Amino acid sequence: MLEEELKIKLTHEIIDPNEFDEIVIDAYNNGNADECLAAYHFFARSEVPAGTAGKRSVCSIAARIPLFNSANCTGCMDCVNLCPDNAIKAKVVPGSDVEDNIDIYAKDNEEVKLFNLQFAVTEKFSKIAKKRKAEAGKFILAIDPDKCKGCGLCVKICKESALSTVEKDEARLDELYNIFNFFRKLPDTDALYIDENEPKDLMLNPASLLYTGGTCSCKGCGEASPIRMMLAVTGAKYGKENIGIINETGCIFEYSLEYPYNPYLVPVLNSSHSGIWSNAMGIRARWNQQELNDKKLWVISRNSRFTEKGINALSNLLKSGLDIKILILDKLGYDNRGAEICSLYTEVFFAQTVTSNIDHFYRAIIAANEFKGPAVINIYAACQPEHGIADDKSQEQAQLAVESRAFPMFIYDPRKGKTIKERLSLKGNPAIKDDWYRNPNTDEITDFIYYARNEGRFSNMFEKDGSPKPAILKLSEDRIKNWNMLQKLASTR
Ligand code: SF4
Ligand code: SF4
Repeated sequence: MLEEELKIKLTHEIIDPNEFDEIVIDAYNNGNADECLAAYHFFARSEVPAGTAGKRSVCSIAARIPLFNSANCTGCMDCVNLCPDNAIKAKVVPGSDVEDNIDIYAKDNEEVKLFNLQFAVTEKFSKIAKKRKAEAGKFILAIDPDKCKGCGLCVKICKESALSTVEKDEARLDELYNIFNFFRKLPDTDALYIDENEPKDLMLNPASLLYTGGTCSCKGCGEASPIRMMLAVTGAKYGKENIGIINETGCIFEYSLEYPYNPYLVPVLNSSHSGIWSNAMGIRARWNQQELNDKKLWVISRNSRFTEKGINALSNLLKSGLDIKILILDKLGYDNRGAEICSLYTEVFFAQTVTSNIDHFYRAIIAANEFKGPAVINIYAACQPEHGIADDKSQEQAQLAVESRAFPMFIYDPRKGKTIKERLSLKGNPAIKDDWYRNPNTDEITDFIYYARNEGRFSNMFEKDGSPKPAILKLSEDRIKNWNMLQKLASTR
């Protein structure tokens, strides 16, 4: 391309996703970008089209893969919501259409049997159909072998034992591809089967799947689930054309934009942490000038923003009153400062939540989106290598963080009244009036020490015989003080 032509192209054109696929993605997917790819001109503008990570297979990462047993499945959608890699998809198909579709797509009797086995008859989708005077729907779940990293999280969280893991041999992989290809050909779920008051079901609508997976995040990553869930509930209500994301440098930045793979199907700006808040305020101000007031701007950041230095930089934004939403991926999971922030910025919406409590998480995101002004969601984001936990543990550990008061959930909503008591809700925490929560099955107290024993990062805070060292006893004291302060502020005790 002539220099002049290139200049015009770079100045006036926006990136062409098809051209990008042909030139860049194909070369990367074939593993020969080093040899055959000349410098791509749009690289000079640091641009990547939306959703390119959806075209990447991370299949080789998984040693084991999930196996679905439809007979046990209730269609709860927990696994579909929580999979960090967008690797489990679900649809509801009217009962009479199931057979027709199998007739069309199954090649032989074996496939007829195989495809039939993927459908679950659930009370949930019979009930909603009855209520809406429609034919009962059958629920189908399919694993995308190109996206599944085999973390086992879906197996861990399924309360009905409808998922198990199996060795990924060639035959099993072929079968999985076969099922997934059949699943893709099925019609999208009719809106009548989607209960709009049940955010978990929004992922039945493919338009809510705005994070493609196919990234280099760790297996079972505790950051990816909240990002894709936030996008799902925001996208379903406001439309993907009304969302913009700013990603802060760090782990999220690395796995969500490992060139040329971009998992977002909405516009995203990757920003250095020093410029993140001014970038956010600039974009918001420009949208407001253009009368795009209803567009949702989400900044995805890390818990370091809550440290002394970070909080100063955040301050201008929080005081500005601008309609900017902030999702903090809190990797510490303790020593969080949510309550202090509420007392500093009384007119900011603030919630602390976990994805393991799906309802609380969605309630917080929906309320934050509806709030006119800055809203902060602090989310417990377990990190396998940093926390020293197994690949399938991020949700279990998040739940334990809540139960042990390491990370209490709350929603502080300035619209609820004038006093802190009216604005602050601790609903969702167990044993809300007590110091500690007692596990009803074991009668054991779930305190901070119990939580810490389950994470490798605290191992040096225990003696060889397992007794806690003074440092962790101090942390435990601090956490109960924090919980008692929240109880006092919310007048639950
Ligand atoms: S979590 Fe289990 S019961 Fe719920 S939809 Fe998934 S497989 Fe079915
Ligand atoms: S094993 Fe992990 S990546 Fe695969 S479908 Fe389950 S949760 Fe998703």
